Amino acid sequence: MNLIIDRLYQNMETMKLNRMKLIFENYAERVEKDKISFLEALDYLIEEEKNYKKENSLEIRTKIAGFPFVKSFEQFDFKFQASIDLQSINDLRTMRFVEAKENVIFLGPPGVGKTHLAISLGLDAIRNNYSCYYMNCHDLITGLNQAQHENRLNQRLKQLCRHKVLIIDEIGYLPIDEQGANLFFQLISKRYEKLSIILTSNKSYSQWNEIFGNTAAAILDRLLHHSTTINIRGESYRIKDKKSQISQAQIRQTN
Ligand code: ADP
Ligand code: MG
Repeated sequence: MNLIIDRLYQNMETMKLNRMKLIFENYAERVEKDKISFLEALDYLIEEEKNYKKENSLEIRTKIAGFPFVKSFEQFDFKFQASIDLQSINDLRTMRFVEAKENVIFLGPPGVGKTHLAISLGLDAIRNNYSCYYMNCHDLITGLNQAQHENRLNQRLKQLCRHKVLIIDEIGYLPIDEQGANLFFQLISKRYEKLSIILTSNKSYSQWNEIFGNTAAAILDRLLHHSTTINIRGESYRIKDKKSQISQAQIRQTN
């Protein structure tokens, strides 16, 4: 009996059945005590291992994505941001846009939830077994510039095309020079009709020439050809609490 148990543990280790290994002893006692059938016991152990592996891989892939924070759609207050069309959000959540290699662009002033929504959509993609990678626009362009400097631009562009969904956050917050705009265009062209991009910007499309200069038209041409734009027109969520604090203080003062 001991020999069998030893071999069982060794095999669970070799096969990386970590969850099974962890719960085996306690569960074996329960099986004996409660007279659980062989079929039921086997099913329980395999189900436990499967769920553990799934959660683990979700966690690892979320880490790889490099989100600045992890927040889902469930944590987004759509009532606060009434300008967002829920139908479009639900349509995006079906992941049809990833299959169709389309882009998604969130536009709006600071604090309205663009980054939150881009990350939520990225998380949904990961949950649906698509790979996702997050980059801030400034870091992305700095990296592309450096790669070009070191004669490995193609390699970097290829790396950025490894993920089914690429999030490029905060377009337009910092100025981009001609060289940067050109590198950005190369990335957009490489992913065009092959892989999806989710972008966020505080600038409307008509202002994109202030960001990308003469390259703006070519960038927008490819980006918008197959895309969904979510225009958010509302108040910043960041100052929501501050505002209510201020008005409460005012009420206290008038009392
Ligand atoms: P933006 O990218 O548009 O500047 P963020 O997505 O960074 O805004 O949002 C700022 C903060 O406010 C984040 O912590 C985000 O989770 C939160 N937030 C914004 N809008 C909402 C909302 N409607 N419901 C819940 N949290 C929100
Ligand atoms: Mg943001």
